[in-house]
Amino acid sequence: MSERRPFIAGNWKMHKTLAEARALARAIRQGVAPDRRAEVGLAPPYTALAAVAAELAGSDIRLAAQNAFWEKQGAFTGAVSPAMLADVGCHYVIIGHSERRQHFGETNDTVNRRLKAVLENGLAVILCVGETLDEREAGQTFEVVRTQLREGLAGVAAGADRLVIAYEPVWAIGTGKTATPQQAQEVHAFIRSLLREFMGPAAEAIRIQYGGSVTPDNAATLLAQPDIDGALVGGASLKPEMFLPIINAAG
Ligand code: PEP
Repeated sequence: MSERRPFIAGNWKMHKTLAEARALARAIRQGVAPDRRAEVGLAPPYTALAAVAAELAGSDIRLAAQNAFWEKQGAFTGAVSPAMLADVGCHYVIIGHSERRQHFGETNDTVNRRLKAVLENGLAVILCVGETLDEREAGQTFEVVRTQLREGLAGVAAGADRLVIAYEPVWAIGTGKTATPQQAQEVHAFIRSLLREFMGPAAEAIRIQYGGSVTPDNAATLLAQPDIDGALVGGASLKPEMFLPIINAAG
C-alpha cells in the first residue's frame, strides 16, 4: 500500500428512499472507526443529498454526487449544476461512470465538459474510466483507457487533491466478476504512467480507485496493490455490513 490516503467511496446509484438513505448514512457514520486510515465518501441519488448531508454534518465523511451538468443555471430540465451540488454540501462529484456512458450517451467530450465545470466550482472529481469486455478481449484495454483519460482530462491541470481516478472495468461492474489484483494493478500502473505524462510529478499523489464488484472478501488483496488507492463500491455500499469491512480493509 502506498503513502496516498486510501479513499473508499460508495456509489448508491438509483437506490434508497429518503428514510433508507438517512438510515444507511447514519449506520456508516456510527460504524466507521474515528482513527481509520481511509477517507470515506457516500454518493446518494440527488433526491437524498440534503438528507445525507444532514446525517454527515460534523463528521469527516465526504458527500458525493453521481453526476453534474456543465452549465451554471438555466433552461436545462432535469440537470443539476456543480454550484447546486456545492451548495448542498458535496465535496466530490463522480463523472463519466460507465452507466452514464452506456445508458445516457456520455462521451469523452461531455465527460470533459462536466469535469472542468466541477473543478471550476471548487469541487473534487472522481473520473471513471474502464474498458468493456469486448474491448478487453480485443486487446484494446490500454488504448481505451488512454483515450478516456486524455480526452476526459483535456485542458485540466488540477492539483492532486481535487482529482481522483476510478478504474472500473465495465465487465466487472455489478457482475460479481472482479478483476484479479494483478489485472487491476497492471491497469492502475498504466493510468499512473499516463497521469505522469499529462500532469508531471503531481501524478504521484493522485488516488486511483478500483471499482467492480468489490466486496469484503476481495477488498484487502486489491487494496494491497501498490497503485490501488481505494475503491469505488456499488452494490456492497448499500449495506453497512458489507461497506464497513471494505473501509476497514484499507487499514
Ligand atoms: C460502481 O457502480 O461503480 C460499481 C463498481 O458497482 P459494483 O461495486 O456493484 O460492481
